Amino acid sequence: MQLVLLGPPGAGKGTQADALVKKLFIPHISTGEIFRAAISMGTAMGKEAKSYLDEGKLVPDEITVGIIKDRLSQADCRAGFLLDGFPRTLQQAKALDVLLKELELQLTKTLNIEAPPDLLIVRLTGRRMCSKCGAIYHLLYNAPQNEGFCDVCGGSLYQRSDDSEETVRRRLDVYKEQTEPLIEYYFAQGLLARVNGALPMNEVLLALGQALGQKWN
Ligand code: ADP
Ligand code: ADP
Ligand code: ZN
Repeated sequence: MQLVLLGPPGAGKGTQADALVKKLFIPHISTGEIFRAAISMGTAMGKEAKSYLDEGKLVPDEITVGIIKDRLSQADCRAGFLLDGFPRTLQQAKALDVLLKELELQLTKTLNIEAPPDLLIVRLTGRRMCSKCGAIYHLLYNAPQNEGFCDVCGGSLYQRSDDSEETVRRRLDVYKEQTEPLIEYYFAQGLLARVNGALPMNEVLLALGQALGQKWN
């Protein structure tokens, strides 16, 4: 399956992507994670991307599309893939169409996880990430057993610098302006499935499975 996870920041894309790829055995490709890894390694691309992430703006399409082009051309993507956080602009969506054509692949579905703005702000400002394995937590909704430490690997948890309330608000504006139009773009192609992201995590996962014609329990 060739899948795209759409939805505003905080809708639960990363959380659901982690669960989905364990069921579907396909690579999880998150442009946000690729940028954060490049920034922490101090690569040239990371240096270029950093100011955009810090300000809650989108990294320019030329850079982002180039990254996805390299990644989708790798052998593991022949079995399918789950894109999380890409595309985020119409130009990226059109570039993805061209790329998939070159690779002789087609999108199976675009899964749109929906949630209202008030909830997104609470989700993002309470988000904590594992510094070692990337697991996603929430202070209220998905708290770790031991405060400050990852249940999976014991790594220490941190708050993403772009999860401050000010940057979150900017990201939600950017989403509305640049990413929301993709819902219509994929709807028009008959590829869109909508899922209520305000439900508990396991229920969202079930709904995503249903949209993909899979029966999970
Ligand atoms: P995104 O990748 O769309 O920005 P995340 O998956 O990182 O979203 O989730 C944002 C925050 O909300 C995280 O702290 C996560 O633990 C929490 N979260 C995700 N899904 C749910 C849910 N269904 N119910 C409650 N909290 C959730
Ligand atoms: P979230 O899970 O909260 O939606 P991400 O981890 O997906 O956040 O993205 C974090 C940041 O990385 C974005 O605010 C943006 O600066 C950059 N980014 C991620 N994906 C893209 C993309 N497809 N195009 C441009 N910038 C991106
Ligand atoms: Zn961990």
